Amino acid sequence: MIEKEHQEDSALRVNEGIDQPSPMNPEAARRFRESIPRETDAGGYVRGILDGNRALLSKAITMVESSLPRHQQLAQEIIAGCVPHSGKSIRVGITGVPGVGKSTFIEALGKYLTTRGNRIAVLAIDPSSRRTKGSILGDKTRMEDLANDPNAYIRPSSSAGTLGGVARNTRESIILCEAAGFNIIFVETVGVGQSETAVHSMVDFFLLLMLAGAGDELQGIKRGIMEMADAIVINKADGDNVKKAQLAAREYKNALHLFPPSPSGWTPLVLTASATEGSGVSNTWDMVENYTGLTRGSGYFEQRRKEQALQAFTDTIEETIRQKFYHDPAVVSHLQIVQNEILSGKISPYAAAQELIKAYFKQ
Ligand code: GDP
Repeated sequence: MIEKEHQEDSALRVNEGIDQPSPMNPEAARRFRESIPRETDAGGYVRGILDGNRALLSKAITMVESSLPRHQQLAQEIIAGCVPHSGKSIRVGITGVPGVGKSTFIEALGKYLTTRGNRIAVLAIDPSSRRTKGSILGDKTRMEDLANDPNAYIRPSSSAGTLGGVARNTRESIILCEAAGFNIIFVETVGVGQSETAVHSMVDFFLLLMLAGAGDELQGIKRGIMEMADAIVINKADGDNVKKAQLAAREYKNALHLFPPSPSGWTPLVLTASATEGSGVSNTWDMVENYTGLTRGSGYFEQRRKEQALQAFTDTIEETIRQKFYHDPAVVSHLQIVQNEILSGKISPYAAAQELIKAYFKQ
């Protein structure tokens, strides 16, 4: 017995870990749980969401993000109940490299909007978070003011999944937030990857935040992203940086002229702003309203929403089939073997793909 105890203390022995305390305030967690009736069905969720119950909204988004089939089933029923109450918000995508000031800017703009009677939701697309464990919005101190605003709802992106999966979750989360009465939805993404194209396909207005004089190469922002932008805001136009920001704004204005005109009839604008000082924030919103006014008038707004609906339709089919395929037991058990065979030159990638697809459809 003594020997056993001694063994357990040995530094050479790996003892089982102890339960870590929950990172969430236990009292808040309890209130959260109790605000959701235990056996809530889809109808209960829909009624709660339409009532503006944030706990139910959060839980429903968790269902959307879950890969468990029963959660997925429930999520689809909730979405079906919410769709008729969705679509009435203005959806704004905001992108820019890390550090450009996205969260500071969204907080400033968000506060500006809530004090004017709006209800805003902030969602994030961050497919990189699998690697970085939530690089955007993951940090709890970000947007603290806005997070405490009863008229704002901030939801970090789910921390796992493919871009297609995360994009689909965000689209569905937009519907839930709209049904919950949020009339302005921000979708934030890091402007370095492909996620911009996904965001662009689900928002009405796409805003690119940039910095002045932060080195060229357009700060890692690809030309394609600039081409998608309805506006560029040069942030951190404060202190010594004001002149540089104005110069950069002129340069970007010229650069944008080289792009083909947008089918919206809108000419992308370049503004300067300081998220920390609050300058340029109201101008940015005036611009978004001018845009929606113009495009609603011309019919482009509705037309684009329709195109986006079709895009959501194909994306959902593709993503669902992809998920089903890669989670299929026959595929799971053969995938590694077939991949090794490709690597060792035993089989061509095309033949291997055919083999796996056949195995999937034969069942
Ligand atoms: P994100 O990674 O794009 O979300 O950037 P953050 O909002 O976290 O901002 C990165 C840093 O830039 C923070 O230290 C902010 O305080 C600072 N920052 C953001 N906006 C401004 C601004 O308008 N002016 C100045 N001087 N600093 C800013």
